[in-house]
Amino acid sequence: MKNNNPVALITGASSGIGLAVAERLTEAGYKVYGTSRRQAEAGKFRFSMIVLDVTSDASVELTVREVIALEGGIDLLVNNAGFGLEPAAAEESSILQAQALFDTNFMGVVRMTRAVLPHMREQKKGRIINISSILGVVPMPYVALYAASKHAVEGYTEALDHEVRTAGIRASVIEPAYTRTQFEANNIPPDAPLDIYQSIRQTLKQAVNETMKTADEPDVIAQVVLHAAQTNRPRIRYTAGKMAKKLAFLRRFMPSSLLDSGIRKNLGL
Ligand code: NDP
Repeated sequence: MKNNNPVALITGASSGIGLAVAERLTEAGYKVYGTSRRQAEAGKFRFSMIVLDVTSDASVELTVREVIALEGGIDLLVNNAGFGLEPAAAEESSILQAQALFDTNFMGVVRMTRAVLPHMREQKKGRIINISSILGVVPMPYVALYAASKHAVEGYTEALDHEVRTAGIRASVIEPAYTRTQFEANNIPPDAPLDIYQSIRQTLKQAVNETMKTADEPDVIAQVVLHAAQTNRPRIRYTAGKMAKKLAFLRRFMPSSLLDSGIRKNLGL
């Protein structure tokens, strides 16, 4: 049975940005399906929750099929599920750890997109919004793998948007900076730590804790997602929050040598 309200599927809606987006979209009249890897307690959320692991092809297929069976279609997919690693040198993560990060942050987006596109093409409309990061625009030292996973999301989304636009579908990325969520608490430590980086790792952890004190609330990002979902002429990129806007501006207009030395000075490298 097709619901008259637009239907949104949001990955990783159990906390943080995904939860804020699910709440915003529910308020705006969307019929929202959020996802989590764990079964949600009945009545905990104001929207429907489905169990999904974006690293599993079968789980992704099942979730998309379930929502389409219930609602007749999906109008908006928000690919939000993701995690980070504690700040550490690029060489301190094994290949296995790097693959696990990409499997969620990038391949998760690819899996979900492949699963919804046939239905969106059939209904000749749809929106796909991918939660990237300002680190998908300005890569910072000691978050190389995470920044790379978000650069992959950026490149994929921009190419995809060109491919599906004539089918009535649009794709965008949202680029937040530090946001007050469970993200830092869920960061995974490097699995191949080296003594030579121990001191910079500690310094960076403290710096991140300090920056988090002035971080954006997740609803700041959710408002940008809602705008991107509802506007008739969506852009490919949206920065979200003050710090993200500032960094994107610097990336665009500052000579790269100055940005390079600014980053090194800021981190005491
Ligand atoms: P949280 O840790 O609060 O939320 C992450 C969400 O992703 C959870 O709902 C979690 O669900 C879900 N998730 C993680 N892995 C999987 C998986 N394999 N399959 C399905 N769901 C998964 O962090 P945020 O809200 O901050 O992060 C949301 C997005 O925002 C991420 O993509 C992150 O990279 C991005 N971002 C965050 C920033 C920040 O400073 N917080 C800044 C820039 C971007 P569950 O554990 O219930 O399965």
